[in-house]
Amino acid sequence: MNFDPTDEQRRWRDLAREYAEGEIHPRAEALDREQKFPYDVISEMASLGLMGLTLPEEYGGSGGDFVAYNMALEEISRADTSVGITMEAHVSLGCAPLAVYGTDEQKERFLAPCAAGEKLWAFGLTEDEAGTDAGGTRTTAEISNGEWTVNGSKKWITNSGTDVTAGVTVMAKTGERDGGRPELTAIIVPQETEGYTRGPAYEKLGWRAADQHPLYFEGCRVPEANTLGERGRGFVQFLQTLDAGRVAVAALSVGLARACFDEAMKRAKERRQFGRSISEFQAIQFKLADMAMEIELARNTVLKAAWLKDQGRPFGREASMAKVFASEAAKRAADQAVQIWGGEGFMEGSAVARYWRQVKINEIGEGTSEINRQIIARSLLKEGEGVGEAKGKMVAQ
Ligand SMILES: Cc1cc2nc3c(=O)[nH]c(=O)nc-3n(C[C@H](O)[C@H](O)[C@H](O)COP(=O)(O)OP(=O)(O)OC[C@H]3O[C@@H](n4cnc5c(N)ncnc54)[C@H](O)[C@@H]3O)c2cc1C
Repeated sequence: MNFDPTDEQRRWRDLAREYAEGEIHPRAEALDREQKFPYDVISEMASLGLMGLTLPEEYGGSGGDFVAYNMALEEISRADTSVGITMEAHVSLGCAPLAVYGTDEQKERFLAPCAAGEKLWAFGLTEDEAGTDAGGTRTTAEISNGEWTVNGSKKWITNSGTDVTAGVTVMAKTGERDGGRPELTAIIVPQETEGYTRGPAYEKLGWRAADQHPLYFEGCRVPEANTLGERGRGFVQFLQTLDAGRVAVAALSVGLARACFDEAMKRAKERRQFGRSISEFQAIQFKLADMAMEIELARNTVLKAAWLKDQGRPFGREASMAKVFASEAAKRAADQAVQIWGGEGFMEGSAVARYWRQVKINEIGEGTSEINRQIIARSLLKEGEGVGEAKGKMVAQ
């Protein structure tokens, strides 16, 4: 077993760290306060190759592995999670399904402009009545004369309404199976398609400089050739996409937990009470120790799940474990960071107050903690065994 990153993985991590510390971190407070999408940051990250880190080189991506991507995402998210989620939603949710399930022609038309990050692509699954229960999708698509007509709406879709968004992949109900189960299909909808509109951006507790909108489809027509993957396989594709997305949201959580630790350590060393540094009190030391320990554990679960994916091995259970553990560890870290900062940490404008607000979404987006715990439990019950070594079976990713 080797815990050392490869030279290539180290290179991506260091590149992301250098850019994040120099260019993103100093602006994080303003990004959150102004709630403006950081076009310049995303464009610079695109030119560094970060916005297409795992995407195929032949379409303009960087061709990096999934471990490298998660290491880079942790660094970016340590500086700011609005930027982190913009990168994650573009690479893992928007572009990865185009790369995995798209035809050559679809990749040429839709992935190529996005794989380097000059354009963004979104992933539209969630609806008013279909959140955790994604199978409850009400948006429909009907086929006639070689065209899909899409009707319905989506909710909270990341990267869907920026000036550089090129389109969205939408999950739509395209029929009914035996027993009344819906047939769900993924359909590619370019941004300027007639009948496709977006509502205003949301006011949010966190990810405030990231871009989320409601989407509306009214008689929106796209060619049948915009079917992504096989008709009726949309649900399976979206579930596989979310497995990888969960690892990435876990990496984002580790980054945020580190930001909390950085602030907590700084304050512990600077603040004096009773004539000495509060870092000399064991109560404070134990908080710092717990934070560091959980960050280490959370990162290990992220890298293990990412490594399994890179090996082409099953990683769904490990992805859910990483997501639950890292998002909850980040929440505990944010809480303890505010505690160490005391009243100052409760003030608007304090970094730890911002982190405390921002951390909650990690337990919700791309599968809540509840549903991820169910996925873990179901996989244990199905296999009828305890938690052991990763299985060696190869699966198509
Ligand atoms: C800022 C933001 C960005 C987002 N970006 C995107 C995006 O780009 N694309 C996209 O498609 N979606 C996106 N989402 C949606 C996100 O994935 C959903 O919010 C998430 O899947 C949960 O769905 P819900 O919010 O409707 O919660 P609900 O499904 O209504 O769940 C409410 C509560 O009930 C619990 N619950 C539900 N079912 C069960 C069950 N069977 N057992 C136990 N507990 C259960 C949940 O765990 C939760 O605690 C985004 C959301 C936000 C807030």
